[in-house]
Amino acid sequence: QTDSRVPDLKRNDELSDLAVLFNDMLDQMQRYITQQQQFVEDVSHELRTPVAIIQGHMELLNRWGKDDPQVLSESLAASLSETKRMQSLVQEMLDLSRAEQLEINFSHETTDVQKLVTQAFNDFKMIHPDFRFTFDDDVKKPVYAQIYRNHLEQILIILLDNAVKYSTKRKEIHLSLSTDIRYVEVAVQDFGEGISKDNLDRVFNRFYRVDKARSRDKGGNGLGLSIAQRLVEGYHGKISVESVVGQGSIFRFHLPILRDPELLAAAESETD
Ligand code: ADP
Repeated sequence: QTDSRVPDLKRNDELSDLAVLFNDMLDQMQRYITQQQQFVEDVSHELRTPVAIIQGHMELLNRWGKDDPQVLSESLAASLSETKRMQSLVQEMLDLSRAEQLEINFSHETTDVQKLVTQAFNDFKMIHPDFRFTFDDDVKKPVYAQIYRNHLEQILIILLDNAVKYSTKRKEIHLSLSTDIRYVEVAVQDFGEGISKDNLDRVFNRFYRVDKARSRDKGGNGLGLSIAQRLVEGYHGKISVESVVGQGSIFRFHLPILRDPELLAAAESETD
């Protein structure tokens, strides 16, 4: 807590306006510092588990591994998998940090959302032949948004990956694309385990996982949705979720449609 706040001057002039402004700035800084501290704590916590597992296996190897081929191969495999987890954690933290800085350098590529969503649909259908994928495309023609292509891909992959990961029984995923006057909306619906009301608000928080152990088994770091949210919001869009436990979830996001005729002409000539 900061004790540098200016006390209430109980005056109604520029100086008290300035004091209010100053106190607001202090509060904002304090919030920022608290957030950063929390982040460092969260990261340390997340890294502790893989490091502890690797250490355990190294100790095991040191003691018995040299003579026991089974210990050797199991410990090596476990250590390798934890190393990969740390690698993905570091990559996702970088992605998150970049997504958080997005608003500052808001100048972009123009991307055909319809085309990219169709591509993601086809890709996922191919990678997961055990799932039934359907696509309800209300647009059926190019619709442009000002967003880096790889960012839009990243958002789609996060939502589709989750839909796959958290659908164990009914393996069915429904994708839809629609537009209104201002926005293009993508919805990813699954019929999997769903998310309880209490958890629904928190799934976009970084490192939040409904079931830590199970999500960890599936390779999740709890960062995917926070990256997707920062990206969507960085492009002046919105992301939301509706879900019923045992019935499934729908994640929706929308992005402003690009209407600027000059940018649009440039984008259209590029895709030709
Ligand atoms: P993770 O990498 O753990 O999947 P996310 O940030 O993408 O992290 O998601 C956070 C948590 O939200 C997940 O651990 C999971 O518990 C829950 N979740 C996300 N998507 C779904 C979904 N489609 N169905 C059920 N639960 C989900």
